[in-house]
Amino acid sequence: MSKQDGSGRLVTAEPIDDLTATIMHVDMDAFYASVELLERPELAGKPVIVGHRSSRSVVTAATYEARKYGVNSAMPMSRARRLCPTATVLAPDFDAYQAASRGVMAVFADVTPLVEPLSLDEAYLDVTENAWGETLGRTVAARLKAVIREKTCLTASAGVAPNKFLAKIASGWKKPDGLTVIAPERVERFLQGLPIDALWGVGPVTAARLRSHGIQKLVDVRAIPEDDLRLIVGSLAPWLQQLANGIDNRKVEPNRETKSASSENTFHRDLTNLAQIREEVDRMARDIARWLARKERLARTVTIKVRYDDFTTITRSLTVLPPTSDEAAIATRAVSLLDRTEAGARPVRLLGVGVHNLSLLGEEAEPPPRKGTMPSLPFDEPDPVEPPPKRGVE
Ligand SMILES: [Mg+2]
Repeated sequence: MSKQDGSGRLVTAEPIDDLTATIMHVDMDAFYASVELLERPELAGKPVIVGHRSSRSVVTAATYEARKYGVNSAMPMSRARRLCPTATVLAPDFDAYQAASRGVMAVFADVTPLVEPLSLDEAYLDVTENAWGETLGRTVAARLKAVIREKTCLTASAGVAPNKFLAKIASGWKKPDGLTVIAPERVERFLQGLPIDALWGVGPVTAARLRSHGIQKLVDVRAIPEDDLRLIVGSLAPWLQQLANGIDNRKVEPNRETKSASSENTFHRDLTNLAQIREEVDRMARDIARWLARKERLARTVTIKVRYDDFTTITRSLTVLPPTSDEAAIATRAVSLLDRTEAGARPVRLLGVGVHNLSLLGEEAEPPPRKGTMPSLPFDEPDPVEPPPKRGVE
């Protein structure tokens, strides 16, 4: 049973299962704030904001009660406190979040080895084969939520779908404590209701750009010729068109590398216009920055790669202090690295932007390199295990 809610969104109300809906995205509810409440049960049901109090700080997390006042993660703390003066503000305790995260990840690992963590509180699971012998995605998800609650006293929202893209949307569909299954026969109706913001890789800036071209809904992306879409979103175009058709062939990749990430673009025609080269690098750098932000990671080093028309390839790096995931900061540095190349003076056939020396947001300092994991330039790696920045950001 489905209905349109007041905002015209499609709401799937009835349990639908299908054996092919076995990709699960699990996202803990207001994770940092919920972990804080475990120690402070008296604050349950009240607006709580996690973050440092200083005026230059930003909100790290907020309970749903605080979100009702318009408080959101990454919002300046000063603004959050104006919006919700009654909220209790707690300083973040990342050791506690990491400990809680280990508990949650241990539950995931009990279900399947195919777990791909995205951050401390979020992961994809491929439950096609699962240790519980369950055959329906919905049943695995329900059981998983119950076990997480029992073992950690925390609630999770889960989405089950035929692929990652849809599973992630599904987990955010009903929050907190949600469970949404998108069975294959429901996919098309689901897609019809989605705004372009739901596209994996489309952040607020790209969304605004698409809207300014009259593209409002995810399905509108199907109708535009790929070349026209490319003018608006660059190299994301083919990827977004796949997603708009509900296609996402990414596999759940356990233990994937997050020490570095890079994005490359080979151009149909060599670029000779420096302004255009700068623009391309700026766009790729911003894609990577958004990917970092989504992964809750900060980069210390920004690298660009330039391949000239004679296939000579160079890289240039800049180490950034403090580590950042700020779009403008990373883009500015990446573009400035072009000054140390002959791009423009020599035709360019390929550009790349990478970040490395990544640390997890909230880590006080970068952990010492583990044996055998000395940081390497992102482009030294044969092929990035992970395509996101190439295609967009999560
Ligand atoms: Mg979460």
